[in-house]
Amino acid sequence: MPPSNVIDGPRVVTWRCPSCRETVPRLLPNGELNRVPLAPERTALPDPDVQRACQRVQGLRAPEVCYACDQVYHELLGTLVRPPAEEGDARGEPGLNDTGVVGALLPLADRGTQILIFNVVDGELRCTEIERLATFNPDRLTYPGSRGAIAPRIWALYQDHLATLHAATPQGKP
Ligand SMILES: [Zn+2]
Repeated sequence: MPPSNVIDGPRVVTWRCPSCRETVPRLLPNGELNRVPLAPERTALPDPDVQRACQRVQGLRAPEVCYACDQVYHELLGTLVRPPAEEGDARGEPGLNDTGVVGALLPLADRGTQILIFNVVDGELRCTEIERLATFNPDRLTYPGSRGAIAPRIWALYQDHLATLHAATPQGKP
């Protein structure tokens, strides 16, 4: 217990991020707030089937996440994923037909961020899996060098997302 005449400064006060559910500093070392508002395009791919699947997930959405979670959102959204127990490393190899895509990340205020993974089932894009961000295994992420046997719809979502990211990158900053 600090002496009662010591008042917590802004750098001492913490905040519980609703996404990772960790207690994080309220400010970053550069003085910026460690709370990043989530724009809709950062949480879900602009696809009608993805958007519909998101609407079906119940729960209050948190409007802000910590800086680290915001970076994770940026990294995961639109990335290809393999099934949980698949062996081997698909980096650089042609894609496999059971590869899905991270279509959305939903910051549920009471349960933490949920990752919505999509696969093509019977010719339709469907949310086949919902994983908690806190326990997601990053080894499942895959970066195949070519489409291979990946469903064309999944590959198109991935390519479109990459194009959006590249378009948003300022000149001179690769
Ligand atoms: Zn967080």
